[in-house]
Amino acid sequence: AKTQRLDKILANLGHGSRSDIRRLCRQGVVTVNGAVVKSSSQHVEPENDKITVGEEEIYYREFVYIMMNKPQDVISATEDFKEKTVVDLLESKYQAFDVFPVGRLDKDTEGLLMLTNDGKLAHQLLSPKKHVPKTYYAKIEGVVTDADVEAFEKGIFIEENLQTMPSQLKILKADEISEVEVTIYEGKYHQVKRMFQATDKEVVYLKRLSMGSLMLDNSLDLGTYRELSEEELQGLK
Ligand code: URA
Repeated sequence: AKTQRLDKILANLGHGSRSDIRRLCRQGVVTVNGAVVKSSSQHVEPENDKITVGEEEIYYREFVYIMMNKPQDVISATEDFKEKTVVDLLESKYQAFDVFPVGRLDKDTEGLLMLTNDGKLAHQLLSPKKHVPKTYYAKIEGVVTDADVEAFEKGIFIEENLQTMPSQLKILKADEISEVEVTIYEGKYHQVKRMFQATDKEVVYLKRLSMGSLMLDNSLDLGTYRELSEEELQGLK
């Protein structure tokens, strides 16, 4: 079985920095399989060994899965020289898992963004062959019509060699500022904005509501996040 340094595991699980963990070990409150740990750099098998800190038995996991309600003005990246990123919004115990955003939302787009360190699942969700549906709520400058709905259903020609797959457009409100829901099955650069541009309209607000079976939890305020439930995770796999 895989072994890892105990201090690294505990740091990843949010029990403090490596020096905090060294101190906990000196205090004699950390045990592995019932034996008090002397050295915080000891190697353990996190999947098999029983590790406790004080009264608490630690629950080791390799992967973490987070849903965030992304606010505007943060970018979908892990780090950036000058801009604030979605990873910057996370508590350090989650940053320690080396999570990254699953796909990108534009800087001015809000809503559902998943973050994980599970590269395999991320790949499944992003693979262009899988056509995972993504649904957005949008406000559009201009009156959205049934002709637009039909055009989206046929696929939109954006430019030479860039024709989108059929997508669903649902008109919630047709007005000078229309409100719609759009479901797309690809993730081309600025796709929703460019699809509306191609029909002479402009997206003035965009929020992602779902990705595959995963729906944004409405109780999450902008900029907040939570881990996926087991059920949500199984639905994505
Ligand atoms: N389409 C866009 O134009 N922007 C996004 O952020 C997501 C989809």
